[in-house]
Amino acid sequence: MILYSTNNMAARVSFKEAVFNSLPTDKGLYMPLEIPRMDPLFLRNLPQYDLPAIAFEVSRSLLGDAIPAQVLRRIIDEAMDFQAPVKPLEAGLGVLELFHGPSLAFKDFGARFMSRVMGYFSADENQAEKERLLDVLVATSGDTGGAVAQGFLGVKGTRVTILYPKGKVSKIQELQLTSNGGNIRALEIEGTFDDCQALVKQAFNDPELSRKLRLTSANSINISRLIPQTFYYFHAYAQVLMQGIREVVFSVPSGNFGNIGAGVLAYRMGLPVRKFIAATNANDVVPRFLSTGVFQPQPAKATVSNAMDVGSPSNWVRIVDLFGGDISALQQVLISRSYTDKQTLSAMEVLYREHEYLACPHTAIAWQAVMDYRQTEPGEYASVFLATAHPCKFPDIMPGNLRDQITYPPQVSDLFSKSASSVPMPVDFEAFKAYLLQV
Ligand SMILES: *Cc1c(COP(=O)(O)O)cnc(C)c1O
Repeated sequence: MILYSTNNMAARVSFKEAVFNSLPTDKGLYMPLEIPRMDPLFLRNLPQYDLPAIAFEVSRSLLGDAIPAQVLRRIIDEAMDFQAPVKPLEAGLGVLELFHGPSLAFKDFGARFMSRVMGYFSADENQAEKERLLDVLVATSGDTGGAVAQGFLGVKGTRVTILYPKGKVSKIQELQLTSNGGNIRALEIEGTFDDCQALVKQAFNDPELSRKLRLTSANSINISRLIPQTFYYFHAYAQVLMQGIREVVFSVPSGNFGNIGAGVLAYRMGLPVRKFIAATNANDVVPRFLSTGVFQPQPAKATVSNAMDVGSPSNWVRIVDLFGGDISALQQVLISRSYTDKQTLSAMEVLYREHEYLACPHTAIAWQAVMDYRQTEPGEYASVFLATAHPCKFPDIMPGNLRDQITYPPQVSDLFSKSASSVPMPVDFEAFKAYLLQV
């Protein structure tokens, strides 16, 4: 597999380099030079494959010989050891549940695959490199950190530093970030997610840090997190095919646009998708861009769907790149809508009242967006909205009648018995740098 930078087609790297560098020095993002088309026969026969089998076929097409087939199969079997069911709510409408992994959010797919890919490539390093600790930096708006922590916990030769915005993550999310111990450290940043992300980006551009530490990133900008997120789009389509429907609309709760970016990559690989709906909260840089043509990043606004509080959606450039920069072609396939907190809470209520389905706020936005789409676009298609987190992670923002309905899976019950620790830090690059260099 060969990748290039979205800022410079001539900057070519291997998959391994893209995994460890995360970001090209020109501040673009890595993209595959060749996007393979999946065999039409494979697509037609999808219902015969389970999730790991789909993951293997799709990743092997993308990665080529970057990872030996046997190793890839083992990585997938370890990483994708939980279900991603499409639960039908009514005729033609289903919810793709992506929260059955250890951190109860879809980010488990990316984080678990990435940690094992990094582990494989690390073991491959020569001795001198191997002695140096792999320092994984991750900025999180809530769910990334927990998934990455779980993905790397106990992985030899790695140390994870998580930056999260103070007071902007839920109680359960905070516990998932701060209660791991071992090779996982948490920094509570007195700022927003964008501040956290800016600190991480600055660390990668700092020559002294690059010289002294073996830094790598675990954010959704890493290509090894994007690739595994394509798997469940194929898997969901398989479940739609089983109902005899051939066209699908995906509604994706979007913040940094990594999840939907993977969906668009799957589409470019041949998955027959009628439309993608990027459903956002008040952080509406993309819906604004699509209606005005002006891409204007904003400071992040705090909302009840906090994992989507992103004012500068990094992965958007990847989506534009997947359409070769042709925005009108992009708009044929992808639309975007933004919803207020009030609409989000009301969607949660209605979804529960009509279907007895308790959704997290992010998921509720995707449901509302797909319902609005169905109103205006009747047709013979299946609508699938993505459930990106388990509702039990967001009790604080739930209306009381809904909160009473929350059930807790075992992953959560365990958390409350653990002790938590984090280091408070201002939005100050020198302080962050000193912290990284101190041990
Ligand atoms: C991260 C996250 C999102 C946003 O996903 P992006 O890939 O950043 O667009 C949505 N919902 C939940 C629950 C998340 O954790």
